[in-house]
Amino acid sequence: MPQIIDNVSLRDHHTFATEAAARYAATILGVEDLLTLRASQVWQDNPLLILGSGSNTLFQNDFPGLILFNRIQGIEIVKESSEHIWLKVGAGENWHELVQYCISHEYAGIENLSLIPGTVGAAPIQNIGAYGVELESVFEELTAFELKSGKSIRFDHSDCNFGYRFSIFKGECINQFCITDVTLRLNKHPTFHLDYGQIQDVLNEMGVITPSIRSISEAVIKIRQSKLPDPIQLPNAGSFFKNPVISKEHFEKLLTSFPNIKYYPEKNNMKKIPAAWLIEQCGWRGKRSGRVGVHEKQALVIINYDHGSGSEICNLAKAIQADVKQKFDIELFPEVCIL
Ligand SMILES: Cc1cc2nc3c(=O)[nH]c(=O)nc-3n(C[C@H](O)[C@H](O)[C@H](O)COP(=O)(O)OP(=O)(O)OC[C@H]3O[C@@H](n4cnc5c(N)ncnc54)[C@H](O)[C@@H]3O)c2cc1C
Repeated sequence: MPQIIDNVSLRDHHTFATEAAARYAATILGVEDLLTLRASQVWQDNPLLILGSGSNTLFQNDFPGLILFNRIQGIEIVKESSEHIWLKVGAGENWHELVQYCISHEYAGIENLSLIPGTVGAAPIQNIGAYGVELESVFEELTAFELKSGKSIRFDHSDCNFGYRFSIFKGECINQFCITDVTLRLNKHPTFHLDYGQIQDVLNEMGVITPSIRSISEAVIKIRQSKLPDPIQLPNAGSFFKNPVISKEHFEKLLTSFPNIKYYPEKNNMKKIPAAWLIEQCGWRGKRSGRVGVHEKQALVIINYDHGSGSEICNLAKAIQADVKQKFDIELFPEVCIL
């Protein structure tokens, strides 16, 4: 039986490193642990939360129930064809280590997602993405343990309702499941995605003439390390807000006042506006507010500089949201899960 521990500090369990405590916590290594814990009174009487590496979570308050630290391990080849290989991966495996494992075995498809912190089980929750690739492009299926019924249920691609930093697990199924494994369909013959951000420039700087999944991963790592703060040195949770998507009419109206506005075309004539640009235009880049502040190199990242609290981070986020709303009439929504 996994041990249930009382009053656990969450400071080292999420990358914002704010002081907060869980009333109870336990570590799960497999579905059997979930089944055993489910029979306990603590499980029955309390709210439940699954936590991976806490790299997309902010604790504003103590958590009044049972937190389950997902540490389910394992990588297994479940199918192979001349074109693809299917890997079933334990939800508690580290995402970046999985990317490196795939690169060392020449399995292509997730090299652009190098160095994203977190666990494999959390990757489908917000359909992680970077440098023109999203998890859904290699996603085959997952198994999720329904907390209420104790049943393990299979979700295929269409069941997950993936969108931009979204899946059913952030929507109608929020907090109802513990994802226990994820199956990815990787490519034996890579298709490179080099046209996003600075990947091609960095490959040129590296002297790479013929790209490989390894050199692309190295280029992505270089770019990320040059721009994004390491949460161990500067506690943060990556992009705090999602990039907002606005209508063509709204965009055209903004264009008259802000001719340099940055955007990416979306479906149905909608435009995705980089939230970092909006925040920067409001003068927030590099600005501190007490013990917390906005990163000087990337305005989308909020930093907990000096043991700030979850509330201080949320207050800063609200001030940024208010300024962006006032200046652009655009609402910013957090990407981070705030508890
Ligand atoms: C420096 C930095 C850079 C980042 N860059 C990117 C990026 O480029 N692209 C991107 O998409 N994200 C990025 N992120 C965000 C983060 O890395 C991802 O969202 C990651 O998938 C979170 O994994 P985690 O295990 O830490 O999730 P957690 O923070 O532990 O959990 C996130 C949410 O998922 C739920 N959850 C976690 N595991 C499970 C499970 N097994 N079953 C059910 N629910 C679960 C939690 O309850 C919570 O609601 C970045 C974060 C940081 C700190």
